[in-house]
Amino acid sequence: ETHSLRDQVVLVTGASSGIGEATALRFAEEGCKLIICARRTDRLNELKKKLVEQYEVPVHTATLDVTDSAKLDEFCSQLPPEFKEVDILVNNAGLALGTAPVQENSVEDAMTMINTNCTSVVLVTRHFAPGMVERNRGHIINISSIAGHYGYPGGSIYCGTKHFVRAFTDAARHDLVGTDVRVTAISPGAVQTEFSNIRFKGDGAKADAVYDGMIPLTAQDVADSVLYAATRPAHVQIGDIILYASYQA
Ligand code: NDP
Repeated sequence: ETHSLRDQVVLVTGASSGIGEATALRFAEEGCKLIICARRTDRLNELKKKLVEQYEVPVHTATLDVTDSAKLDEFCSQLPPEFKEVDILVNNAGLALGTAPVQENSVEDAMTMINTNCTSVVLVTRHFAPGMVERNRGHIINISSIAGHYGYPGGSIYCGTKHFVRAFTDAARHDLVGTDVRVTAISPGAVQTEFSNIRFKGDGAKADAVYDGMIPLTAQDVADSVLYAATRPAHVQIGDIILYASYQA
């Protein structure tokens, strides 16, 4: 028997585009209550409209920069009563910035990646995991990457952050043994979203060239794998799902 998601409270960080947006839509389709946050308020409002119109689910939006730890703390602790007990946390907000070799890394970009991809995951998890343990139910799903499995040229910091996400997830699973709280990492290969454009700092030609000869994954493919993990029976713990893009013959 799969696990029903109806009326569960789902928090998705970085829900204003790409994988986060697709994941929020996918959970809404299952009748979940959604908390969506990101920096771009207009995008969140558009998504909220879609979620409410298409699926008639309750939605709470928050404009939030997850690297601002004071604001992040305020957001977590001041959720409206109906949304306070988060059942499924999807730590998705993340980015790669630049492709510099290790000896030329921008310290500022490195810190942004570390704070967005790692620190926020630690803080949000620290906030919501106690309630999950107390209620003995919950699922924390962290979006890692194949960059969390391998290194590649120009990826020292990004790959480092995604290895962190995967190791954090794996260690947390050990800590939660004996509870019905599950933790899962999702490790996609290339997904066609705004990610590449941000990585190449708006250079569209370079951003598009990443997908040359490739059939990239879609945000929906990743959202489907998140849903798969979340809907397994309680005793089935999905540790990590790797999704590879395909290459044209
Ligand atoms: P997008 O750029 O489309 O989405 C990234 C999301 O993160 C946006 O909603 C963005 O919102 C949000 N975000 C970024 N920085 C912050 C911040 N400081 N505070 C709050 N929200 C933030 O890319 P993807 O959907 O592809 O990326 C989602 C996740 O998937 C990331 O963790 C990424 O590392 C991972 N991933 C992506 C792959 C790919 O090839 N695309 C492959 C493997 C993993 P806003 O800008 O409005 O704040």
